[in-house]
Amino acid sequence: MNVTPSLSLALLASLSATALRAEPDPRWLGHDRERPMAVAVTPATPGTQDQPGRPPSDATVLFDGRDASAWVAMDGGPLRWAVKDGALECVAGGRDIRTLQAFGDCQLHIEWLVPVQPDKSGQNRGNSGVFFGMGRYEVQVLDSYQAPTYADGAAGSVYNQYPPLVNASLPPGQWQTYDIIWTAPRFDASGALVSKARLTVLHNGVIVQNDVELTGPTQWVSRPPYTAHPERLPISLQDHDHPVRFRNIWVRELGGHRHKAFTLPDALLASYAGEYGSRGRAEGKVRVLPHGLLGVTVGGVELVMHAASTTHFYALTTDVQIQFSGEGRKLAVSVGEDFSRAMRWERISP
Ligand code: MG
Repeated sequence: MNVTPSLSLALLASLSATALRAEPDPRWLGHDRERPMAVAVTPATPGTQDQPGRPPSDATVLFDGRDASAWVAMDGGPLRWAVKDGALECVAGGRDIRTLQAFGDCQLHIEWLVPVQPDKSGQNRGNSGVFFGMGRYEVQVLDSYQAPTYADGAAGSVYNQYPPLVNASLPPGQWQTYDIIWTAPRFDASGALVSKARLTVLHNGVIVQNDVELTGPTQWVSRPPYTAHPERLPISLQDHDHPVRFRNIWVRELGGHRHKAFTLPDALLASYAGEYGSRGRAEGKVRVLPHGLLGVTVGGVELVMHAASTTHFYALTTDVQIQFSGEGRKLAVSVGEDFSRAMRWERISP
């Protein structure tokens, strides 16, 4: 995809939504009585081999044993994995899958079960993976119970970067848990890396990664450098040709974002591209940008728009919002929160 130099600056300026905090908030005194207390959350309940536990009350449930609607193919098309016996299972030809919603810093709980495959070994024994950043950063899923492989490719590894601190694997055929704390990498307006991605991983309740700093995307053999991307991107699961199952998947996004973020299907984003205006006169243009973003040109300036739903998009760097209706034939462009004052356009072309 072509990104002009002027656009890439605008694009990159919009990538990083929130700053990382490493010190107490200076707006409050120690023990400040005015400081609001934390919001109450009903904690998760633990599961058993037979029965998954319940998510905490404020979690976004990604799979509850029946409803897999949070998941799509990597291009946003229909999910091709199977839902059976309360699990989401990778099937032949299922390809990698991802969440429709995008997540920045977050806490992820996911339970997985690898099949008993005594005839297989190493990386061919129940291989899958939990990825952050739209397929970029993998926490390995593998049958590593008394099953040797290279250390930085075992269960609980950050693939090709960090072996797990210990091997906390259960035998294949049993449900295992990952509790993962993900910190997304940050990039500045020029696309330069500001802070690296970080991962903390508990495998079956045992810490196996303690806030490790990633060298860049995880790949087989090589360690490529970071390339700029939005802070919030989908979580994905790997199809490595093995019938690995997942259940009780939930996530708690951190960082106090104002809107949800979605990485919409490529086909839906493409359907919004075109010229819009009123009384047949073009006044604005919409085009598809990388990373599930849209560019909307208003008054000769292109703004980068993030999806808050399938029809509602917002800019991170200004208060412009847009809303599609009529299956993409109509577009309301609001400068400010109040859509009653929005410019209302119709599709002119294509
Ligand atoms: Mg894998």
